[in-house]
Amino acid sequence: MNQTLPPDSAAAAKSMVEAARFFHSRGWLMGTCGNLSVQLHRVPQRILVTPSGKDKSRLDTDDFLLVDERGLSLTGAGRASEELSVHQEIYRLTEASAVFHVHSIANNLASRLWFEAGQVVLEGVEMIKGIAGKTLNDRVHLPIVANFHEMPALARSVAAAVSQDVPAVLVYQHGIYAWGRDAEAARRHIEIFEFLLEYRVELHRLGMV
Ligand SMILES: [Zn+2]
Repeated sequence: MNQTLPPDSAAAAKSMVEAARFFHSRGWLMGTCGNLSVQLHRVPQRILVTPSGKDKSRLDTDDFLLVDERGLSLTGAGRASEELSVHQEIYRLTEASAVFHVHSIANNLASRLWFEAGQVVLEGVEMIKGIAGKTLNDRVHLPIVANFHEMPALARSVAAAVSQDVPAVLVYQHGIYAWGRDAEAARRHIEIFEFLLEYRVELHRLGMV
């Protein structure tokens, strides 16, 4: 079935292409890994999402798929990202309109170092102010959850840790999902958490925490 794309989809696609190129340039979105989506409408659900198997450094605005609440494609060729069901759980549990997911060395290391603690504690760093609703004095508890190869299990694992307090979840030796009220906020949250995790891992390496 091919439907006409909603008018706000062009801006969403452009934001995601720009974010994907930036994330790739930082080494957070290598090869075909990672996925980005914007929820254009909640009911009926319309999500614009990266296609499965596409190199994210070469994404174009017409590569995105418009899918419904069942994950079925309404426009575009190919299949939606396999991790769409994780994005849908985050949309169901939050007010988010964009969910971005990247794999990086820093977020993989942090997920391994603090997996048993179940969270990475971030505090006292100026960059915390960039997280929606947070101030410099806030202590941020970024949850770490188990990874699963099966998508329904991964979606349940992430969903169990989603809170209104922190707009991100870290998955063990996999990557981070971060979200926001729009594509700009989701991008900002990815950038900030990547900075905070890189800094935290480096502090640990230096024996300072
Ligand atoms: Zn992933």
